Amino acid sequence: MDLEEYRRHGKELVDYIAKYLSTLRERHIYPDVKPGYMRDLLPVSPPQEGESWSSIFEDIERVIMPGVVHWQSPHMHAYFPALTSWPSLLGDMLADAINCLGFTWASSPACTELEITVMDWLAAMLGLPDYYLHHHPGSQGGGVLQSTASESTLIALLTARKAKIMEMKSTDSNLDDSVLNSRLVAYASDQAHSSIEKGGLITLVKIRFLETDEDFSLRGETLSQALEEDRRLGLVPFFLCATLGTTAVCAFDCLTEIGPVCASEGLWLHIDAAYAGTAFLCPEFRNFLQGIEYSDSFVFNPSKWMMVHFDCTAFWVKDKWKLQQTFSVNPVYLQHANSGAAIDFMNWQIPLSRKFRSLKLWFVIRSFGVEKLQAHVRYGTEMAKFFESLVRSDSNFEVPAKRHLGLITFRLKGPNRLTEELLTDLTQSGTMYLVPAIICKKFIIRFTVTSQFTIREDILRDWEIIQQSAVKILLNHSKYQNGFFNNRRESVLEKMQSNCNSVGAKALVKEKTPQS
Ligand code: PLP
Repeated sequence: MDLEEYRRHGKELVDYIAKYLSTLRERHIYPDVKPGYMRDLLPVSPPQEGESWSSIFEDIERVIMPGVVHWQSPHMHAYFPALTSWPSLLGDMLADAINCLGFTWASSPACTELEITVMDWLAAMLGLPDYYLHHHPGSQGGGVLQSTASESTLIALLTARKAKIMEMKSTDSNLDDSVLNSRLVAYASDQAHSSIEKGGLITLVKIRFLETDEDFSLRGETLSQALEEDRRLGLVPFFLCATLGTTAVCAFDCLTEIGPVCASEGLWLHIDAAYAGTAFLCPEFRNFLQGIEYSDSFVFNPSKWMMVHFDCTAFWVKDKWKLQQTFSVNPVYLQHANSGAAIDFMNWQIPLSRKFRSLKLWFVIRSFGVEKLQAHVRYGTEMAKFFESLVRSDSNFEVPAKRHLGLITFRLKGPNRLTEELLTDLTQSGTMYLVPAIICKKFIIRFTVTSQFTIREDILRDWEIIQQSAVKILLNHSKYQNGFFNNRRESVLEKMQSNCNSVGAKALVKEKTPQS
């Protein structure tokens, strides 16, 4: 491909992307393919001679799209959002073209300098403590962009472990690091993300998962008790990962209680706000941040809700010296005239090389501005509230956990298998994508409002499909057991089916569906 072809085809590809993203409602969100589907579509060997762009381009729709889950669709409600936006796409287009590997300041000064500025902007936008700023009198901290929240939590764990082992060695320098490691114990709630468990697997550190209260929140008293028990066993508590916005139900650990315990017991308090962090752009959601002043590190993913596409994870640390002592290496080929004076982000992360990620973050913040980003969070939350009101209006369903932000959970009343069948039916329909969770032995379905293009009509359409599928399942079960519907069930189903796509369906179903 030569320069002229690049220009022409690049414009064609931008047009294709614009069309793809603006017509997602026309596609089935979930693909109907089996493992290995692509083997029949592609040759066994690579081409010996280069192919034309047109033959490559044609294969996007023929080979790739049939197996794509359309994460940007308004009907994507699985996991947490992984949004993109036009300015974000443009930012990465430029970053990909520059393609510098900003491991040291000298390897591309703009890469480090922009990241420092944008991370300070972002910390201020979220209302984080000043000690997380690069540029603030007395601050020893700063922010850095990592690839994922999982990696950031591992980095926090490794940093806290290094600091604790050094502290332990200061009283007995003869002890081996591995012996000291075996005495360490870290904590998280039983709702924490699996990445903390993975962190334990990698570091060989014991992780204890603590029981949460009825709102799935970790409380100070539970932590204090665990610390007492573990110290009695001769273990050394050193780290707690608190979650703001858990994966299953978006619950919040109680920082005002666990923060002081961490401070008095010498535990590193890391906060995982992977999804919910974006909500702190809005002052009205910052009540969950109370107690943040006890934290030692904080992570959230702008790549989830903030419309900066993957990968882009914002990680702040209060004491950058502790971070750097964990990850610093100093081979001659990486040294430069400003080593020591300037930040070398390679010493803040696991890999050496790093992308110019701050460009897309910078483009997004500048293009939307704080107010539009706040409006985006508020809109998503309103859409989730709307969906919640629909679920609550149907007595066949229950909402098993309090809704927070854009995540609502629901299930069919009765045994788990009803909700399991409902989820299977919805997934197979390809009309929307949802994933389950289990809380208190209950199988639940998570519904996240993801896309910024989701409108009320999309939510209504999804709810009507959910209701229709639910009625089908409940009627099926009621043939064999009593309790869900009375003898009017056939007429309900008929009306349900003929009306499920009309705006009036909800009212009709509500009026006609016999109560359980
Ligand atoms: N922490 C929480 C609370 C999450 O919900 C998730 C993913 O959804 C993660 C961590 C992992 O995020 P990542 O994919 O960036 O590692």
